[in-house]
Amino acid sequence: MELRNKYDIIVAGAGAAGLNAALFLPRDKRILLVCKEGPRQADSYLAQGGICVLRWDGDHDAYFEDTMRAGHYENDPETVECMLRCSREIISDLLYAGVRFSRDGAGNLLYTREGGHSVNRILYREDRTGREIASRLYARVRKLPNVDFRSGTALADILTDGEQCAGAVLRDVRTGETKAVFADYVILATGGIGGLFRFSTNFRGLTGDGVAICLKHGVAVSDLDYVQIHPTTLYTKKRGRRFLISESVRGEGAVLLNGAGRRFTDELMPRDVVTAAIYAEMEKEGGDHVWLDLRKIPSEAVRAHFPSIVRRCAEEGFDVFSEPVPVVPAQHYFMGGIRSDTDGRTSMPRLFAVGEACCNGVHGKNRLASNSLLESLIFAKRAALRIANTYEPAEEQTVKRAGQGFDEGKYRDGKSLSREYAALVRRGMEAAASARKAEGPGEGGKADKTQRKTSEK
Ligand SMILES: Cc1cc2nc3c(=O)[nH]c(=O)nc-3n(C[C@H](O)[C@H](O)[C@H](O)COP(=O)(O)OP(=O)(O)OC[C@H]3O[C@@H](n4cnc5c(N)ncnc54)[C@H](O)[C@@H]3O)c2cc1C
Repeated sequence: MELRNKYDIIVAGAGAAGLNAALFLPRDKRILLVCKEGPRQADSYLAQGGICVLRWDGDHDAYFEDTMRAGHYENDPETVECMLRCSREIISDLLYAGVRFSRDGAGNLLYTREGGHSVNRILYREDRTGREIASRLYARVRKLPNVDFRSGTALADILTDGEQCAGAVLRDVRTGETKAVFADYVILATGGIGGLFRFSTNFRGLTGDGVAICLKHGVAVSDLDYVQIHPTTLYTKKRGRRFLISESVRGEGAVLLNGAGRRFTDELMPRDVVTAAIYAEMEKEGGDHVWLDLRKIPSEAVRAHFPSIVRRCAEEGFDVFSEPVPVVPAQHYFMGGIRSDTDGRTSMPRLFAVGEACCNGVHGKNRLASNSLLESLIFAKRAALRIANTYEPAEEQTVKRAGQGFDEGKYRDGKSLSREYAALVRRGMEAAASARKAEGPGEGGKADKTQRKTSEK
C-alpha cells in the first residue's frame, strides 16, 4: 500500500458523511480518505426518496414534531433542533456543488412527502437522489489536491495510547497488506450494519466495522438495539441486497393491499408502525409478502418520479402500471451507533464519528424518512469545522505509545477479522436489547420482534 506513515486527518468511509467531512476539512491539511470497497458501494448512492429541509420558518414546529414523533420522543431535542437549523445551509451547499434536484416547468424546486411527514418537505431527484448527491460530492472531493483517496482500503483498527486516538490500521482488501498510519484526528464514517442481516437494503459490505472497533476500545456507543426495518422492499426469492421501493411512492398515493386485495393500514404512518402492520397481516394470512399498488398514482407521475423503481420491478417481471407488486419488510437503517455529540466528537479524544455509523440522538428510536442524508451531511460538516477550529497536532508521546507493539500479523486474515467484528456488534446489540428489557417492557418487545424476523443470517 502506497500510503504515507502520517496524515493530518484520516476519514474512514466515502458515503455522504465521509465525503462531506473531507470537503469541509482545512485545505492546508493532508487528508487520507479510505473506503472498504468501490467508491460507489456506499448506501448514500442508493437513497431514493430524497432529503428533508426546513422549507419555511412556519414549518419548524411541525417538522420538529414529525421527527420526534417518528422517534417515539426518544430523540435528543437539541440535536434535532440543530439539524433543522442547519438544513437550509446544507441544501445551499448541495446546490452550489451542482446537485440537480427535480424542478417544475418554471424551474421551482419540487417537494415530495413520505411516511410520518405532515407536509411535503423532501427535495428529490427522481428516485435516485442519493446518487445525484453522492456523485457530485465525490467529484468535488477528487479535485482536492490535499485529499488522498483510496478505495479497497479498510479501516481494520484505530491506533490509540489507551486514551487518545492517534491514527488507524489500514488493510488493503485485495492483498491483505496492513499498515499503521498515524494521524492527529480520525473520523469514522463507516455507515450502517445491514451486511450483518440476511435481508437488508444495504450494501453487504456495511457491517458496522466502526462500531466494532469502538466496542473493542471502550469508546461509548448508544442504542445498538435500535434497527429500522423498511416496510417495502421488492419481494424476491433471490439472495443478495433487497431492492427498496421508496416510501415516497406511498407519499404520492400508492397503497398497501393484502392477499384479498384489501387495504389494511394507513400507509403514511412512520416506518415502524407500517412495518408492524405488514408483519401482522402476513401472519394473519400465513403469507411471506403483501402487495403495493402504484396504480393510484397517475402513470405519467410514476414514470417521471420513479423511473428506477419501474425498471427494477419490470426486471423482476412486474408491470407497476397494470398490477400490484409484492413487497416485504427488510433491515434498512441503524439508529444506534457510536455515541457522538453535535460536532461528531466521541468519548475518545481525537476520534470523531459521523453519518449512520454514529448515534447523536437525532433519530431516537425510529428515523423519520429522508432525515438521514441530511443528518449525515450536517454533522459531518460540523465535525470537520470543529476539527478545523480547534486543530492541535497530537503530542509526540501519544504517537509513540500508540505505535508501540503494533502487530501487522493480527490483521492479515480479513475473514477472521470480519467475523470477530461482526460478533462484537451482534453481542453489543444483544446486550443493549437485554438492558432495555431489564429497564421495563415499554415498546421494546415490539421492536425486538421486528428485528428478529430480519436477522436470520
Ligand atoms: C436503499 C436505500 C435507500 C435510502 N433512501 C434514503 C433517502 O431517500 N433519504 C435519506 O435521507 N436516506 C436514505 N437512506 C439512508 C441513507 O442513504 C444513509 O443512511 C446515509 O447515506 C448514510 O451515509 P453514510 O455516509 O453514513 O454511509 P454510507 O453512504 O453507507 O457510506 C459508508 C462508507 O463506509 C465505508 N466503510 C464501511 N466499513 C469500512 C471500513 N472498515 N473501512 C473503510 N471504509 C469502510 C463504505 O465502503 C462506504 O464508503 C437510504 C438507504 C438505503 C440503503
